[in-house]
Amino acid sequence: MMTTNSLEYNRKYRAEHRDRINEQHRISQRKHLETHRKGSRKWRQNHPEYQRKHLEKHRKGSVKYRKNNPEKIYAQNIAYKHIPLGSECQFGSCHSNSRLERAHLDYNEPLEVLTFCIKHHHLIDRLYRRFD
Ligand SMILES: [Zn+2]
Repeated sequence: MMTTNSLEYNRKYRAEHRDRINEQHRISQRKHLETHRKGSRKWRQNHPEYQRKHLEKHRKGSVKYRKNNPEKIYAQNIAYKHIPLGSECQFGSCHSNSRLERAHLDYNEPLEVLTFCIKHHHLIDRLYRRFD
């Protein structure tokens, strides 16, 4: 059972050694992270074919996407060059200002661009794609 004294002692000990306790915590966290990193590095080394295939798939996907959606790529390039990104998400009452993206509602109007956070950009894209 903890007595008031030992509680008091613990509290004092922590206060006096705060820096050292924090430092130890940091070190153990870093070690943990490093172990994780090493683990996934090892896995990748043991599965080189996975990474190659994955990359290949990605590359092919992106080439295909550009080929199938030239008007999208064109509109995106135009918007990127000419329209500054807004300062907040324009979706409803979101007003988020993190992870903002330019969004086209109509790729035939490359300069008509709204600013959405990534979440609402995806939502808008999903809604509009249904009518394609
Ligand atoms: Zn938003």
